[in-house]
This record gives sequence, C-alpha cells and structure tokens, in this order.
Amino acid sequence: AEARLVQAQKMEAIGQLTGGIAHDFNNLLTAVIGSLDLLLRRTDDEKIRRLASMALQAGERGATLTAQLLSFSRRQHLSPVPVEPNQVVASMADLLARSIGAAVTVELDLADDVWRAMVDPTQLEVVLLNLAINARDAMPSGGVVRIATRNLAAVPDALTAELNPGAYVAIEVADTGAGMTPAVLARAFEPFFTTKGQGKGTGLGLAQVYGFARQSGGTVRIVSAENEGTVITLYLPRTTEVADPVAIERLAQATGSR
Ligand code: ADP
Repeated sequence: AEARLVQAQKMEAIGQLTGGIAHDFNNLLTAVIGSLDLLLRRTDDEKIRRLASMALQAGERGATLTAQLLSFSRRQHLSPVPVEPNQVVASMADLLARSIGAAVTVELDLADDVWRAMVDPTQLEVVLLNLAINARDAMPSGGVVRIATRNLAAVPDALTAELNPGAYVAIEVADTGAGMTPAVLARAFEPFFTTKGQGKGTGLGLAQVYGFARQSGGTVRIVSAENEGTVITLYLPRTTEVADPVAIERLAQATGSR
C-alpha cells in the first residue's frame, strides 16, 4: 500500500508539471497553426506553400501530443455520458482489426448484460485503440488481443484505497506478447516513458489511459509477465442513468466524432 501511495503521488506530481507545460504549449501551437493556415490560404507561391504545409503538419503533430499530455494531467475536457461498454467495443472491432494488421487477431469476450459506465465515449475509443496498438507492438510475430468486459458488483479488495465504494465495469485488454519487466511496469504510465525507441513510441499512450481512467472516477491496472503477456484492466464506475440518445447525437455533432 505504501508503494502504491508513492506511485500515486509521483503520478500526481508529473501530472501537475506536464499539465502546466502542455497547457502553455497548446496555446502557442494554436497560434502557430492558425497563422500557418492563414498563410496557406493567402499564397499561391508553391515553395512557400510547401514549407508552410510542412510546418503545419509538424504543428499539428505537436498539438496531438499536447492533447495527449493534457488528457494525462486531467486538464482535458471530458463529456461523460452513460455508455454501453459492449456497444463501444463491438462498434470498434473493425477499426481495431484494421489498425493492428493481419498478424494479430482481435477476440471479443463480452459478458451478457454489462452495465452502463459513465465515461466520455470518444475518449474510451481512443484509450481502447491505444491499448490494442500496444498489444500489437508486443506481439511482433502475431498473436491474439482479447478484449473482455464484465460487471463488478463491488470494488475489488486491491482497489479499495483508490476507488469510491460502488459498482464498476471492467474492460480488459489482454495480449500474449512480450510482457513487461518489473522496471518497465513500474514506469509504464509515466508520460514520455517508452521502450520503443526514437520516432516509434511517444510514451503517451498509457499516460492517456491512466488520465482517462482516473478522471472518469475509475482506475487502471496492469498485470504483466515477461514472455507471457500483459493484461490491462480499466475499472469504470457503473451508472444506472439511461443514455439520452438526443444528447449523444448532439455531442457527436458538436465534437465531429462518429
Ligand atoms: P508507447 O507505446 O509510445 O511506447 P505507452 O505509454 O503506450 O507508450 O507505453 C509505454 C511502454 O510500456 C511501452 O514503450 C512498452 O515498453 C510498455 N508497454 C505498453 N503496453 C504494453 C504491452 N501490451 N505489452 C508489453 N509492453 C507494453
């Protein structure tokens, strides 16, 4: 429990630090992107256009990174609604299969009558995609990613220090890949921690997963064994509220998602 407390404090401190930086960077990048965009609209000079669009691409990449950092540090704006986890997972199955390639197959293991969870559905999709891509990266010669859902009537014993009492929905993403060493496991949620090398990993995927889970009133756990595989479980608070289809439609239109 002591180690877990230190870990939580460390994550909190990193979140404060990166959140401040990311927030400032986000504002700067908004100005940079806006100006480049304007420049592109105003000039016909091919050379200038080429340079400006290169700069714009870099700026947009930066904006994606800062958005991920903001979501880790809980400064992102979430719009939680009652969500059917099975529906979200099922509706993503094709996208996931396409994103992770042919060598890795996706298996769904969705329990019957899984409760609704109170989360931002778009962020949940981003998180599941992050987890599936990590699973693929851990299985370079192929394998299976299994996504499972189940109901938890009460907080699991190991999580009582972290979660409010109540019921939770668990979403599990499991792979049969390389697994993590204890040293990697200890740092996996830290922003910018990556073992994937230059230009490959950003180290922001699991940081975002962590931020999403905590900000949703839930948490996330990793169980991993070297050369056996990794199981990452999201614990998301159950809601008995019913999804309001009109509100969801309005939200989807406002955010341009789906
Ligand atoms: P990135 O994927 O960009 O490296 P993440 O924050 O998503 O950043 O992951 C951090 C590190 O955790 C990875 O570099 C990898 O070492 C480890 N990791 C994440 N997911 C898995 C997994 N499913 N199996 C093994 N290692 C993993």
